Amino acid sequence: MTSLTISKRLQTIARYCPEGARVADIGSDHALLASYLLVKGIASFVIAGELNEGPFQAAKKQIHTLQVKDRASVRKGNGLAVLEPGEADVVCIAGMGGQLIVSILEAGLPKLEGVQRLILQPNVGEEAVRRWLLNQGWQLVAETILKEDGIIYEILVAERGVPTVPYENKDRPQEDLLRIGPFLWEEKSEILLEKWSSEAEKWQKVLLQLQRSDKPEAAQRIAEIEREVKWINEVIACLRTDKP
Ligand code: SAM
Repeated sequence: MTSLTISKRLQTIARYCPEGARVADIGSDHALLASYLLVKGIASFVIAGELNEGPFQAAKKQIHTLQVKDRASVRKGNGLAVLEPGEADVVCIAGMGGQLIVSILEAGLPKLEGVQRLILQPNVGEEAVRRWLLNQGWQLVAETILKEDGIIYEILVAERGVPTVPYENKDRPQEDLLRIGPFLWEEKSEILLEKWSSEAEKWQKVLLQLQRSDKPEAAQRIAEIEREVKWINEVIACLRTDKP
């Protein structure tokens, strides 16, 4: 079988796939993750789901070159609609916004029957994903934050369990941890500090612009953003001082 190089982000996702699992990668684009899981002998079977024709054709071509017909299925469709219940042990959804990931999971709830692990990598909107997991009985079991080509990514891994567990006995309220990530908060990595520092910078710039505005609604927005910046700065201060 041919070798395959994929991004550090996708390799990290692959590391969370248990050996021998049947893995569905939803929104697979060129099916790079699915191919890697086969080439490395991690997955016993992969399903690559794609909504759009271009990436679907690219995924089919990619899987065809691997000559693994009996261990892969490339399917065109919306989200989890491409799956039959009980077909996958692991579902990966990566490289989309958190809200889109949530809507895919929500629309495909019956298809999650039998799925043991979710590996989710929202590009933005991680809080929405953590909140959905918490409300749907999925327990976060791991989180990773990584930087590649100047972009910071978060990967969330969840299994069926007691979803409140990762938020219990922590030195921050659940609402804060839904935003930050309970495991990421425990780890307090430099990348997490970088993420929240750049969030603070972003909001500071918005504040400066709003402070120059004479629109009547600006005052209320300024007050909201000032509260946000205060919250972020307090998070940053803890990340700097409370290293484990
Ligand atoms: N998962 C890959 C990764 O992380 O590198 C590809 C990410 S790419 C930015 C997002 C892919 O998801 C696109 O190929 C897009 O066509 C596909 N997509 C978007 N919405 C989808 C949906 N509802 N169902 C299936 N695929 C979808």
